[in-house]
Amino acid sequence: MQTLEKYPKEYRYDVAMLRTAVTWALMSKCNRKKVGAVIASPDYRILAHGINGAPSGFENDVCEENGKTLDHVIHAEMNAIIYAAKRGIAIDGCSIYLTLSPCKKCSASILQSGIKRVCYMEDYRDSGIDFLKEHGVEVVKMTTFHVFEPFKTESLEKVFDLFRKE
Ligand SMILES: [Zn+2]
Repeated sequence: MQTLEKYPKEYRYDVAMLRTAVTWALMSKCNRKKVGAVIASPDYRILAHGINGAPSGFENDVCEENGKTLDHVIHAEMNAIIYAAKRGIAIDGCSIYLTLSPCKKCSASILQSGIKRVCYMEDYRDSGIDFLKEHGVEVVKMTTFHVFEPFKTESLEKVFDLFRKE
């Protein structure tokens, strides 16, 4: 089993955060696209996470009707930012990790929130990545290879191998 020890700390921590974002994305009830977001402090502590979906407590918490995304569906990055606001967690100067690049609307909100770094894996068609770069936000597109490597296993025993020293 491959570990990431030979890679720089920043890269290893970015991979860990994206794996967390992937884990949360899988919790989304949206069918067209499941998206996960994690906001982390500059010293790599998770402050908030979010997935795309209806506001909490919605009885009918589906995301789509007749193949169209419903208006009340909140994007993953906005859910993470809103959670931080709700709990009084400062995210100025932080990083956000996304399974999918942010849309133009969310990119403006990310900029306004003071987030300084966006790390993502997959490109969204209506991406605001260029906008973020133009306004001084560091943008990093991560290869999915190391993010998914531990999940490419057929047996539970092999998953547990991840927690053992090689
Ligand atoms: Zn968005």
